[in-house]
Amino acid sequence: MTRIYNFSAGPAVLPQPVLEQAAAEMLDWHGSGMSVMEMSHRGPEFISIYREAEADLRELLRVPANYKILFQQGGGLGQNAIIPMNLLGRAGPDPVIDFVHTGSWSGKSIKEARRYARVNVAASSEASRFDHIPPQDSWRLTPGAAYLHVCTNETIDGVEFQFAPTVQGDTVLVADMSSHILSRRIDVSQYGVIFGGAQKNIGPAGVTVVIVREDLLGQALPICPSAFDWKNVADNESMYNTPPTYGIYIAGLVFKWLKAQGGVDAIEQRNIEKAKLLYAALDADDFYQNRVAPECRSRMTIPFYLRDESLNESFLAGAKARGLLQLKGHKSVGGMRASIYNAMPIEGVQALVDYLNEFAGR
Ligand SMILES: *Cc1c(COP(=O)(O)O)cnc(C)c1O
Repeated sequence: MTRIYNFSAGPAVLPQPVLEQAAAEMLDWHGSGMSVMEMSHRGPEFISIYREAEADLRELLRVPANYKILFQQGGGLGQNAIIPMNLLGRAGPDPVIDFVHTGSWSGKSIKEARRYARVNVAASSEASRFDHIPPQDSWRLTPGAAYLHVCTNETIDGVEFQFAPTVQGDTVLVADMSSHILSRRIDVSQYGVIFGGAQKNIGPAGVTVVIVREDLLGQALPICPSAFDWKNVADNESMYNTPPTYGIYIAGLVFKWLKAQGGVDAIEQRNIEKAKLLYAALDADDFYQNRVAPECRSRMTIPFYLRDESLNESFLAGAKARGLLQLKGHKSVGGMRASIYNAMPIEGVQALVDYLNEFAGR
């Protein structure tokens, strides 16, 4: 068996011990005689899997008791519609949604939100090709906005919030943390809604984690599908309809793995080291280039360019020959991208750094 180092942005690398355990339990989960995939979501076996996953995630992120954790389907993009449908019922007539436009993913959220309400782009870094996060003192927020939506790690553009934005009055802070949730310590109580597709840093595609403050439930717009009304989902422990059971099981194994690694604080230290190692190699000379302002650089998703782009194909071919895969940048921005999520070991980053040095030397 050969395992490569997988730098994919998502679906992405999973911890090997998690995959091994899932393989060992595939045919017979804990003496049940069944695979997790074959279990009723309402049976005691799956309910125990679900409750442990929920409790472990709550512990890892120190989610306060007045927040619900939901495991939904529909992905990050699904939430771009589910969020307005759930939050606009509590707003007055002609509500406004504030956004900070920091890259491709917040851009998609803006586009979708326009179908539901007036949108105010309070700040944007588009003019400089999303190379930084505009500082909060430059944002033009709307007094009384229903909510402020930010994407705290722009997976394609490689910018990451190093701070939690503040909101005034009843405005709810909503954060798309798809590509860096669980990579660093956050204070959940500063947010009204946190969401993320699992396939970046949590588990397999098909699960979307939503962490929502309880007082925001039960105010969905009448058009909101019942299965996406957070109140229904919360009241039924994410089993209003059939949840993505196998994905939740794998996510639960990832949470256990993360706890065994020392939890979020410990993994954050490792993520800092991994990012430092990679940026140092990219900055070493002008052969490679990362265009993001240093104080806004992502620790998780790191785009870079070869100064001489005619070498792109040979760079990727050489990487592949060394077992370093999925380094091609997103088609919208070109270049390269290394996603170094929690499950990417430092050895993988070191192997990439060695290759970067070797290729630049040639
Ligand atoms: C991947 C990603 C999404 C989209 O997730 P889907 O599950 O494909 O809908 C949204 N936001 C961010 C920040 C992402 O990285």
